[in-house]
Amino acid sequence: MLNLTLSIGLSVILLVPIGEIDKKVTQVLKDDLNKVFKKPVVIGKGMPEPDSAYDHKRKQYLSTTILNAIQGQKEYSHYERILGVVDHDLFVPELNFVFGQASSKAAVISLTRLRQTFYHLPEDQTLFHQRILTEAVHELGHTHGLGHCRNTRCVMFFSNSLMDTDRKGSEFCPSCKSKLPKFSSPRP
Ligand SMILES: [Zn+2]
Ligand SMILES: [Zn+2]
Repeated sequence: MLNLTLSIGLSVILLVPIGEIDKKVTQVLKDDLNKVFKKPVVIGKGMPEPDSAYDHKRKQYLSTTILNAIQGQKEYSHYERILGVVDHDLFVPELNFVFGQASSKAAVISLTRLRQTFYHLPEDQTLFHQRILTEAVHELGHTHGLGHCRNTRCVMFFSNSLMDTDRKGSEFCPSCKSKLPKFSSPRP
């Protein structure tokens, strides 16, 4: 057997459950992201939520602290992209909440506000998984250097509310798509 760990690792998206995450969520997201980015997606060993991320006043987690914790994990570092999934409400100081946050190669998304039950509506698993994919693709788009797009039907449109998330869906507009690396072509 050849040792391909390093070369494969470079073009793989790593999903990291942070704290308790429903296994179905990561499994469905893994398959969905594989279809979108046309590259292998693996579910990694999770990590606990960093205690220091919790703001007792706001009762939310600071997404920047979680992002830093993900990036500080040596075992994740050889993956091309790292996406943390957390089931707590996230915030940054300037905003009431965020659906997610991204840096140059890592990102984090929160499941909390993607559930219908958060808004006291009946549960809808299909919608829940679609929203998770939309937020995951959006944050991974940022890790590829894409900014926010003015096209309300593009995944890179900024979601101010869940209405924006549901309207835009998980696909890149042609302009954003053209700025992405060619995911399907094999690396030399
Ligand atoms: Zn964004
Ligand atoms: Zn776009």
